[in-house]
Amino acid sequence: MALLPIITAPDPRLKLKAKPVVGVDDKVRRLMDDMLETMYHAIGIGLAAPQVGAQHRVLVIDVAREGEKPQRMRIANPEILWRSEEMATANEGCLSLPEHYADVERPRAIRLRYLDHENEIREIDAEGLLATCLQHEIDHLDGLLFVDHVSSLKRGMILRKLAKTKRARAMAAD
Ligand SMILES: [Zn+2]
Repeated sequence: MALLPIITAPDPRLKLKAKPVVGVDDKVRRLMDDMLETMYHAIGIGLAAPQVGAQHRVLVIDVAREGEKPQRMRIANPEILWRSEEMATANEGCLSLPEHYADVERPRAIRLRYLDHENEIREIDAEGLLATCLQHEIDHLDGLLFVDHVSSLKRGMILRKLAKTKRARAMAAD
């Protein structure tokens, strides 16, 4: 397994629509495992392939809390089959928008179909944190970030700050 560099916003690669995988083969499994390692290392609970520069509809999630048994999920070609009418608001963060958080409203529960790491089709019902996290990661596959769900004022503020941090880092590296 290997740690992959995580792309931070603003970056045009985070705005692309990722392509479905043909199937989950060794190559895709390896990407999933590298993404899991990268996610745990960065202390995140979800990571989508476009965040590491891979334009595939692949994501990994583990919403287990500290001290709980890991609940790693390796997901390819996710498809939301149903969304609850009831909405829920959660304070979201993202490894591609480090140190920024915002309240985002999304359907409270979803039903999801996907291919797992053994190329088996699975269907699950998710609610609460898992539903939030799945929808956040699936957004990445469509080129959307959590800031695309908040006011343009707040989005502009966060993206400007991130751009400034990036410029400062680039200058420090020169
Ligand atoms: Zn994210």
